[in-house]
Amino acid sequence: RAKQAGRGAVRHFEPQMDLELQERKALEYDLRQALLKNELELHYQPLIDLESQSVTAVEALLRWRHPSRGLVPPGDFIPLAEETGLIIAIGEWVLRTACQQALVWPGLSVAVNLSPVQFRHRELADTVSQVLQETGLEPGRLELEITESVLINDTEAALEILSALKSIGVQIAMDDFGTGYSSLGYLNSFPFDKIKIDKSFVTTLEDKAKSLAIVRSVIGLSESLSMATTAEGVETAEQAMLLQGEGCKQVQGYFFGRPVPALDMTAFLGNWKGFTLPTSAATDAA
Ligand code: C2E
Ligand code: MG
Ligand code: MG
Ligand code: MG
Repeated sequence: RAKQAGRGAVRHFEPQMDLELQERKALEYDLRQALLKNELELHYQPLIDLESQSVTAVEALLRWRHPSRGLVPPGDFIPLAEETGLIIAIGEWVLRTACQQALVWPGLSVAVNLSPVQFRHRELADTVSQVLQETGLEPGRLELEITESVLINDTEAALEILSALKSIGVQIAMDDFGTGYSSLGYLNSFPFDKIKIDKSFVTTLEDKAKSLAIVRSVIGLSESLSMATTAEGVETAEQAMLLQGEGCKQVQGYFFGRPVPALDMTAFLGNWKGFTLPTSAATDAA
């Protein structure tokens, strides 16, 4: 009875809440089935070495081919996967699939994104070494991407996990650098192999002096700490040129190649002939 009165008090919002809850429940139910029904797939995006103009790695990016919703981007279901714990099974599937796929592309590294939930799961290091053993991929060809958020709450525990991963021989990259509670202390306390400069800085490179200054200092900082830098979200030749001018080693973005299914990536790699950037003289004249 009291419950009914309580419900009555919020009646105005109820239909909307119910819909959202129902929608969420439906999505959760579907997500539980997704792995079993083989609806998850990885797309791959090239990472390009600016100096040699060669593709040196690919990043595995998760998609969900939902029977009625179509291709669902990770931002639409990873949060739910994290809340429900499904991310552990999904993340293991991603890891195994990406490592297996990398065997088809000799010489390339494969980058896999780790959710903070996966990162804190105590079996992570075991899972990673088991997958490497099963697939036979050299550990050095696997790059694990984590975000700053994993370092915030319990830095000490995070550093232990990172060391365990590092001792397996995998590469560790700091993803989306500059968007979280960036602390230079984090960089100092753990030797990341790579820092990925977030695309928000790259997107605004041409018209925001601040972005250029940030990109420049991150590249300088990583260099002095012997870390590599990758710029994400490069969409134009101008951005690529500016990054090259700043000494950025690796780039990733629609200008070079969008994320595509594995078969398309194989074709992309076969057709890859490098790229031409306008010379700075041409740009000056323009
Ligand atoms: P991320 O790891 O920072 O991945 C880069 C995102 O930027 C991808 O979005 C990619 O498609 C997009 N991108 C690449 N180049 C460009 C560009 O030139 N312009 C623009 N506007 N975007 C570009 P996507 O695939 O939607 O993935 C979003 C995020 O979802 C990823 O960000 C990553 O944090 C997460 N994610 C993706 N796959 C996985 C996964 O397997 N596991 C976990 N835990 N997270 C994943
Ligand atoms: Mg990433
Ligand atoms: Mg990123
Ligand atoms: Mg991101």
